[in-house]
Amino acid sequence: MIIAIVGLGLIGGSIGLALKKAKAVRKVIGIPRREETIKQALEMNAIDEGSLDIKAAGQADIVFLCTPIHLIIPKLKEVVPHLKKGAIVTDVASSKYEIVKQAQRIVPKSVFFIGGHPMAGKEKVKLEHAQADLFENRVWILTQDGKTSKSALDYLGGIISKTGARILNIDPKIHDHAVAAISHLPLVVAAALVNTVAHAGTGQKEMIECASSGFRDTTRVASGDPELGIDIFLSNQWQVLNEINAFKGQLSVLEKAIKSGNKHQILTLLKRAKDFRDSNVTL
Ligand code: NAP
Repeated sequence: MIIAIVGLGLIGGSIGLALKKAKAVRKVIGIPRREETIKQALEMNAIDEGSLDIKAAGQADIVFLCTPIHLIIPKLKEVVPHLKKGAIVTDVASSKYEIVKQAQRIVPKSVFFIGGHPMAGKEKVKLEHAQADLFENRVWILTQDGKTSKSALDYLGGIISKTGARILNIDPKIHDHAVAAISHLPLVVAAALVNTVAHAGTGQKEMIECASSGFRDTTRVASGDPELGIDIFLSNQWQVLNEINAFKGQLSVLEKAIKSGNKHQILTLLKRAKDFRDSNVTL
C-alpha cells in the first residue's frame, strides 16, 4: 500500500504522521509545492519521500488531496492522467457537494473518487502544527451517493480508520447542510462577535480587560485561517446563507423575549438550549 498526499499542511501532514505511526502503509509520498516543505516533512517523519512533480502520485494506491478547497478540483485534474488503474482519490475539503459532483465528471472509470472530510482541525494551520493524533476519536466523513463504489468506500474507510478516526458515510448534500450548521455558522457567529467588540469604540478597552473564558470559548474559531474561511463560505455559500437566516430568526426570538422582559420566555429559550447542548454535544 502506497499513498500520496498532495498538499502538506496541517491536515496533509497529520495524515502522513498518523498513517506512518500506525504502520498502516508501506510508503507515504508527499507532493507539496515547495522544496522546503519536502525537507520539513521528511524531518518530521510525515513522509517517506517527496516530490514537486504530481506524476509521483502515479505510484500510489490512494491519493489524498489536502490543498485549500479551491485547488482540490484543479489538483484532481492534474493528477488523474497519472493514476494507476484501480487507484482511489479522496480529498479532505470542508465542503463536499460541488467537489464530488465535479470529480464524478472528471475521474475516468478506471479509478475511484470518494469525497472526504475529517471533522478535526485546529486554528493553527501549516505543516509545523501537524500531529499524529489529530484524528483520534474524531469523525471522518466519506461521502456516499448513488455513484459511489461500495468496495472502494469500504477499502478507503479501513485505511483511514487506522488514524483513530470514526468513519461516517453520508450523502455530499446532507454533509454540506450539516456542516453549514455545526461548523460554518459557528465561524460566522464567532467572527461577528469579535467584530462587535472590534467596532465598539467607547468601552472597548474595558471589554478586552474583562474578557475571560466565556468570550474565549465562544470565539475560538475566529482565530482560524481567514483564507480557509473564504473558501468555506464560498464553496458552501447557499447552505451557509440558509443557516445565517435560521440563526437570525433565533436571534430575533431571543431579542423579543429580552425586550419584553418576559422571564418565562427567556427561561424557556435558555433552558431549551442548555438541555439540547448538554444531551447532544459530547466533545
Ligand atoms: P494548510 O495547513 O494551510 O495546508 C494547505 C496546504 O496546501 C499547504 O501546505 C499549502 O502549501 C498547500 N498548497 C497550497 N497551494 C498548493 C499547490 N498549488 N500545490 C500543492 N500544495 C499547495 O491548511 P489545512 O488546514 O491543512 O487545510 C487543507 C484542507 O483541509 C482544506 O481543503 C480544508 O478545507 C481542509 N480541512 C481543514 C481543517 C482545519 O481545521 N484546518 C479541518 C478539516 C478539513 P504551503 O505550505 O506552501 O502554503
